[in-house]
Amino acid sequence: MRIATTNPATGEVLKSYEPMSTEQLEAAIERADLAFRDLHRTTVAQRGRWLGAAADLLDAERDDTARLMTTEMGKTYAAAQAEVTKCASACRFYAAHAERMLADEPADARAVNATRAFVRYQPIGPVLAVMPWNFPLWQVMRFAAPALMAGNTGLLKHASNVPQTALYLEDLFRRAGFVEGAFTTLLVGSDAVDRILSDPRVRAATLTGSERAGRSIAQIAGRELKKTVLELGGSDPFVVMPSADLDRAAEVATTARCQNNGQSCIAAKRFIVHTDVFDAFAEKFAANMAALRVGDPMDAGTDVGPLASSGGRDEVHAQVRDAVDHGATVLCGGEKPAGDGWFYPPTVVTDLTPQMRMWTEEVFGPVAGLYRVSSYAEAIEVANGTAFGLGSNAWTTDPDEQERFATDLDAGSVFVNGMTTSFPELPFGGVKNSGYGRELSALGMREFCNTKTVWVG
Ligand code: NDP
Repeated sequence: MRIATTNPATGEVLKSYEPMSTEQLEAAIERADLAFRDLHRTTVAQRGRWLGAAADLLDAERDDTARLMTTEMGKTYAAAQAEVTKCASACRFYAAHAERMLADEPADARAVNATRAFVRYQPIGPVLAVMPWNFPLWQVMRFAAPALMAGNTGLLKHASNVPQTALYLEDLFRRAGFVEGAFTTLLVGSDAVDRILSDPRVRAATLTGSERAGRSIAQIAGRELKKTVLELGGSDPFVVMPSADLDRAAEVATTARCQNNGQSCIAAKRFIVHTDVFDAFAEKFAANMAALRVGDPMDAGTDVGPLASSGGRDEVHAQVRDAVDHGATVLCGGEKPAGDGWFYPPTVVTDLTPQMRMWTEEVFGPVAGLYRVSSYAEAIEVANGTAFGLGSNAWTTDPDEQERFATDLDAGSVFVNGMTTSFPELPFGGVKNSGYGRELSALGMREFCNTKTVWVG
């Protein structure tokens, strides 16, 4: 893929980059390795001051950074501003809590015949981060903030369509005070990932992206015996039971599906509604979806901007057409608009069957699948009847049902009466084909630590 900024609202190529040469790549890995030797000897408090400085820069530069993200991948300017602010908060969270997360954990020394026994968390070295374009700042930050606080260095291979955001991130950490090489952006295509991950100086990799990319990285890492964290796609269920507050559920469903122009791994994608409230919910939901304003992402009145790429839009439309060709019903949207830019209308499709692509595939755009079920058991069967298991949502005011959903939904998270989101305080990740490992919280930080047992006789 060409490394370039192309405005999805117009299709105009604004800036292109040559990929790094082999020599440049080698020098960058060497710098990351040298920087690791410095960084892991600095104190957590010192790294916290640098990360705090990064947070201040993010706040101060919020609007320019947001404009850059909107230009590169099409999210609304308001959403981009919120993303910058969220990144600043995550930096402050890890700056404040890393000391506690990395502190030695004492064990029962007597039980292991020691005078002293404890667990120590230590950094492992340069970590490769292969990241996607959909939250071009946040996806990187949720890896970078804990990794740098732990004393690791980061090598970022960002998606080829967000090179300027990628370069901004390198610059941000340098200006915040981190040593040269602590965080490096590698302007390379995905064909360079094998070479980077095979390098003995690179100790591990994290990827957020498609299943295909995940399988490829896991294969390389398996061959090289390196740790990976994979956060892949999702087709999150959003179950609505008869006791739910339907107005609120239909409102949140609309946001949950169309946030980030429908391109979020944790967007609710399959709306599974109990037959007692199906018609009422369907009417409200389709009306909300149809009322969203699609247009220029820089315009404050816009709810849904363009999709990030022309190919991405073609794929979404092909999935909708396939459903319609096999007998599905479109309640709103479903037509590809003419004109410049890769816009797609909020769409609701129902009467889905297992023969349709939408039943099994992730739809990465503002398209909702609506399913009718007649019992709790059927709701669980449809919700879990997917190869994915990232987030999940259940709407019910019945306390017993809430408990059962928390246990029975086969996913990395269950959000009851709310939409899936990520918080620095809580672990984030999936099961099944949505990947493995966790980001955020103390667990995310420790994924790239050596959990060292120390026993003193
Ligand atoms: P990709 O998985 O192709 O891209 C994500 C990152 O992985 C990019 O940096 C990309 O680089 C890199 N990459 C792609 N293929 C490989 C590979 N074989 N080996 C190593 N790195 C690779 O996602 P797309 O942008 O193509 O989106 C396709 C689908 O992926 C979406 O429709 C959605 O289903 C899913 N996706 C999920 C995301 C999530 O948040 N979980 C985010 C983005 C996509 P390059 O850009 O150079 O190709």
